[in-house]
Amino acid sequence: MPMYEYQCTECHHVFTRLSGLNEDVSTIECPHCHQMKLQKLFSTFATASQGHGLSASSAASSNCVSRGPFR
Ligand SMILES: [Zn+2]
Repeated sequence: MPMYEYQCTECHHVFTRLSGLNEDVSTIECPHCHQMKLQKLFSTFATASQGHGLSASSAASSNCVSRGPFR
């Protein structure tokens, strides 16, 4: 499960949290001031893993297309 950084827009407290991709940021509470006013920051880990997944899937699809005419 990926780890994301969040920043509270009320007190500007920054913290990291393990969360799913579809987790709604509005349901997460700031551990400092307990307001649910957070914005998600994109960590370098999340960006790197996203880029890897993207290139892998595009390589797989182009391979599939090049194999098509030979059948
Ligand atoms: Zn806060």
